[in-house]
Amino acid sequence: AKGNVAAADKELLKYFRTRKPVELFGLDLENVKVSKLEQKQADEALEHKFYAHKGYQPSYFYGDDIDWRYWPVKDNELRWQLHRHYWFIPLAKCYYVTQDARYIDAWMEQYADWVKKNPLDGVERLKAAGASEAEIAAEKENIRFAWRPMEAGRRLQDLLTEFALTIRSPRFTPQFLNLFLRTYRQHADHILHNYSKQGNHLLFEAQRMLFAGIYFPEFREAAEWRRSGIEILNREIGVQVYPDGMQFELDFGYHIAAIDIFLKALGMASANGYESEFPASYVETVGKMTVVTWNLLFPDYSNPMFGDTKSHDKSSLQRQFRSWSKVFPDDKQLQWFATEGRKGALPDYTSQQFPASGFYVLRTGWDKDAAVTVVKAGPLAFWHNQPDNGTFDYWRRGRNFFPDSGSYVYAGDKEVTDQRNWFRRTQVHNTLTLEGRNLERTDSKCLRWETDGATDIVTVENPSYEGLTHRRTVWFIDRRFFVIADEAFGTAEGEVALHYNLVECDPAEDFAACSAATRFGDGNDLLLKAFGAERMERREGWVSRTYRQRTERPAYAFTVRKRAGEPVRLVTVLL
Ligand code: CA
Repeated sequence: AKGNVAAADKELLKYFRTRKPVELFGLDLENVKVSKLEQKQADEALEHKFYAHKGYQPSYFYGDDIDWRYWPVKDNELRWQLHRHYWFIPLAKCYYVTQDARYIDAWMEQYADWVKKNPLDGVERLKAAGASEAEIAAEKENIRFAWRPMEAGRRLQDLLTEFALTIRSPRFTPQFLNLFLRTYRQHADHILHNYSKQGNHLLFEAQRMLFAGIYFPEFREAAEWRRSGIEILNREIGVQVYPDGMQFELDFGYHIAAIDIFLKALGMASANGYESEFPASYVETVGKMTVVTWNLLFPDYSNPMFGDTKSHDKSSLQRQFRSWSKVFPDDKQLQWFATEGRKGALPDYTSQQFPASGFYVLRTGWDKDAAVTVVKAGPLAFWHNQPDNGTFDYWRRGRNFFPDSGSYVYAGDKEVTDQRNWFRRTQVHNTLTLEGRNLERTDSKCLRWETDGATDIVTVENPSYEGLTHRRTVWFIDRRFFVIADEAFGTAEGEVALHYNLVECDPAEDFAACSAATRFGDGNDLLLKAFGAERMERREGWVSRTYRQRTERPAYAFTVRKRAGEPVRLVTVLL
């Protein structure tokens, strides 16, 4: 009040070093470990080589005098994610573990530099200074990347861990605390007034606001931050999760991320006495979401890469399952998948449908010799979804014969967006197109689901185009081979094509007979033969399991001319 800010900062620092500890869910100060990747991120950061995106390695050099606008490849993600500061927690951890001052100094310098060069009110400042239109436009563009609520939310969350790991360090100065607290409040306030409208971004932001509100009750607005986060999560869990337990973007990766968000929020609230702010139905819904997760997995813990899903690795999935298990200690199935069968019990069923989100899993077992087919035919969904209704993955004894093409990249300039659009196309999925176009409508329903007899049968139908409905029936005959019937009916005319995108292999092909076969020679091969097509053609095929990496694979189209009003029927055998 007397304006002696320096003395106040000093007292404040003393206070934060000795205040009653607030539990930061997910961080155990007694047990901080630096992973190999974190060590690399921290060491590179000392040289201003910033780990901005996993898909762009080795990390780019951002200049001795850091240029936060450097954008070597015009992929939006590369520029957005730079502002998530992935290497900050690694710097703080390395300092905490080694007490090597270089790490904490780099963190403080880089954060202060970022604050200085990315002011939220940059446009107003430039206007007041009489800057040119071009300068103002560039500033606006920079703020769009630096302060997107998704990125601001990530920083809001990570700054807590960085704070907890460094606050007791003698290098942490009162001046830095002042900067930290001022900008921390600015972040929370910015998100509070600019929450994303929907989708996983909104969930991430809400969870992080809850963390902020609970961890720093000293802020005047802390209770409001916490309440806004809890309110959004309680509302959105009803909006974003279908009754069958799948997150509404129909993307395995974001589905898992949503579970983590919901449980992190619950964990933070419970650790600090706020668990009653979440109703029992919240926990029940998350429980259902976990059930979907392991149902969609193949027995080797690999996953279908529908939508923007990438290939998840087994050990991280198991780690996630273990952390979910703590919330659901009585869930024997979850325990089984968390421990790879060392504890818990297998489900008492194999095949399972999730009709609200449109996932149909035909499964002969849960072991490595099983065969698992995941058919996808759901509702419209959102950004991370692709127009792929009717497609499927087929996994047998460790081999996925039809891995989804994946997503490769997100969005950016034309070159990057074109790459994304290639992987989104309907024809790079195992389904039916008209004139090679993407599906106009993705709103499937299930007409038949029979899995109790010797043969599993599933029929799904999608109003794919104006004047063309696609109905697909899959018979898994004696649970040994497949007959797939594809019917296209309606008033439309044009070339109908049935697409199959095979696993990477050197296939035997017989174009006259409309057939192709893998030649692995290990007793686990597949023969594909189509009936009713006029022509079999080789098409461009790729599969991408991680960001910006892809491998070529054989892909085929079986085409036939459809006349107006007349149906077309194609039958495929997969043996
Ligand atoms: Ca796909």
